Amino acid sequence: MALPCDYHMHTPLCHHAKGEPTELAARAVELGIPEIGFSEHNPMIRNDWDDWHMELENLGLYLEKIRKAQEAYPQLSIKYGLEVDFIPGHEDWIRELAGKHPWDYFIGSVHYISDSFDIDNPTKLDQWKERDPYDVWAAYLERLTQAADSGLFQIIGHADLCKKFCFYPDRDVMPLFQTFLETAQKRGVAIEINTAGLRKDCREMYPSPAILKMASELGVLLTFGSDAHAPDEVGADFPAAIEFAKSVGYQSSCRFTKRVCESVPLA
Ligand SMILES: [Zn+2]
Ligand SMILES: [Zn+2]
Repeated sequence: MALPCDYHMHTPLCHHAKGEPTELAARAVELGIPEIGFSEHNPMIRNDWDDWHMELENLGLYLEKIRKAQEAYPQLSIKYGLEVDFIPGHEDWIRELAGKHPWDYFIGSVHYISDSFDIDNPTKLDQWKERDPYDVWAAYLERLTQAADSGLFQIIGHADLCKKFCFYPDRDVMPLFQTFLETAQKRGVAIEINTAGLRKDCREMYPSPAILKMASELGVLLTFGSDAHAPDEVGADFPAAIEFAKSVGYQSSCRFTKRVCESVPLA
């Protein structure tokens, strides 16, 4: 089976991933993945924002590491990306980052629903327990919709990350996802099937079947990402991800070159 591009992978520069880009590239070649892209957690507006993003002074090193992987594996297409945290007020900073390299794509992700609550951080479970899950999901989706509408991103990352620790809301959230997906469709922004959810408490890919089905019906573009934080996670569960995409009606996914999307049929 021909595998799609794996556009979501990290490096040790974020301090919580292992394996150099050359090692991740080696794994992709082994699996027969034709194209990958690195999407390290972006340098934040301040280096002391938190401890899980790459520092600004390492941006050059990041590009160098990717270039080394390209040289080591010329048979593999390797793209330059970043996973960029969308935080209202940081738009100018994100534009500044965009100007620092001819990037192939930015994945816009929402992890923070306030400056101090990154909802996927296992050290922040207390904040989840203090809140009504619906309020967290609604705040998350408001930012996710803003991210899709911002024009800053080609792809929106793990669209229902808020399910990671299984704090599920007791009210219907599909209208919120519909608003997000309509915005993504209108702005030509892709969402990703991110297989990392299978490795988390929620035990399912991001996004959930009902959301991906709605995305397909609305004509939202699609990419695939393993969210690899180690070489053995590259392309993880991709055969199942392709079946998932097809089961809701997708027939193609996207590849990006210098932020321009090209449609690739699903095998
Ligand atoms: Zn990470
Ligand atoms: Zn992420």
